Amino acid sequence: MPEQPADGATNAAWFERARRVIPGGVDSPVRSFSAVGGVPYTVVRGDGAHVVDVEGNRYIDLVQSYGAVLLGHGHRVVTEAVTAAAAAGTTFGAPTPGEVLLAEAICSRVPGCDQVRLVSSGTEAVMSAVRVARGFTGRDVVVKFDGCYHGHSDALLAGGGSGVATMGLPGTAGVPRSAVADTLVVPYNQVPELDERVACVVVEPVAANMGLVPPAAGFLQGLRQACDAVGALLVFDEVITGFRIGPGGASTLFGVRPDLWCFGKVIGGGLPVGAFGGRAEVLSVLAPQGPVYQAGTLSGNPLATAAGVAVLDAVTPDDYRALAQRVQRFAAELEAAVSDAGLPVQVPAAGTLLGLFLAEGAVTDHASARAAVEQGRYPSFFAAMLRRGVALAPGPYEVLFVGLAHRQDDLDQVVAAAAASAAAVAAGR
Ligand SMILES: *Cc1c(COP(=O)(O)O)cnc(C)c1O
Repeated sequence: MPEQPADGATNAAWFERARRVIPGGVDSPVRSFSAVGGVPYTVVRGDGAHVVDVEGNRYIDLVQSYGAVLLGHGHRVVTEAVTAAAAAGTTFGAPTPGEVLLAEAICSRVPGCDQVRLVSSGTEAVMSAVRVARGFTGRDVVVKFDGCYHGHSDALLAGGGSGVATMGLPGTAGVPRSAVADTLVVPYNQVPELDERVACVVVEPVAANMGLVPPAAGFLQGLRQACDAVGALLVFDEVITGFRIGPGGASTLFGVRPDLWCFGKVIGGGLPVGAFGGRAEVLSVLAPQGPVYQAGTLSGNPLATAAGVAVLDAVTPDDYRALAQRVQRFAAELEAAVSDAGLPVQVPAAGTLLGLFLAEGAVTDHASARAAVEQGRYPSFFAAMLRRGVALAPGPYEVLFVGLAHRQDDLDQVVAAAAASAAAVAAGR
């Protein structure tokens, strides 16, 4: 039931206003409803696992800012940290203790990651990591995997997942050929042949932007060996998996150590942060010590670092274990509910992450993910869930984010809504 809207505002009216002054009405294409139809709900606030829109509708939120929010919306420790930091000044252009604390929090939790440099988004993190890899190796070629998303920098958009996949874009409009000339796109879950032109291999260790596609047994180890054989660097883009899939991220979970890590999302507690890091020897190429330039006026911003430290300090290894168990059970229940209602379904899960494909047939890479999505059931399922008060991401290539704020009761409600929604979709309603 909608809570009473304060001012009679509607989602349609806000979206109309947005479309006049913001291209497509959204500041990031994944937020648009172009893949699912209808008008986006405009959020006024969130608490814990829920968001509330301008009409007063309350949803169980499985978007969680695409994974940026691990503790849930409006969590006290984040709010207090940000408030205190803001009162002391929002940015200085000088070193601050907060950035040291966040860098220490990251490095102390990720074995092998000696140093990190903070930036303001995941896009910047991966873009900068690639620059370091090129500077360190003196080579140009970057290998990435089809369906993995590494932010919207020119060189890495090719074969991108997430919104690039949802919009069916080749990923290169507005990107000159020259910018992607040294980007090789290869299929996920197959170890590619490398040679001595390759500066780095960039990979999502658990692919989470073409739905959820876990790494096949031996894939990450195989990448490590292939890189070592030709002197290329291995870059793990842990912008989603970092501090979500477990306290040490995917590198710890799978026991494969990359040369460079990229972080974002969780480490900012909902504020704009990214980080790239690795061995001190590799990072020594960065200015001011070395010749690779990389910078940012707001990098290591005091509000963002305060929020990030608050989150990392609040979450214990036991929290991750409990969350992973809750997610595994939820994935099984969700799959059973949808399947019993008569829809083909797969709910892949890896640690605390889960995905949803409304199709049969194993999904192991972008081609099989696309084949599943092209069966076309997601838009009507999405709409049916939203009517029942459950907010999934408005695109079929996104994963479901269950965080520490989701109570068992919330997840039970999602499963019940999924059963009813699947029955409605199966009946063609
Ligand atoms: C979200 C994401 C990015 C980009 O991060 P932004 O903060 O949106 O720039 C990069 N890599 C992966 C794996 C992501 O999921």
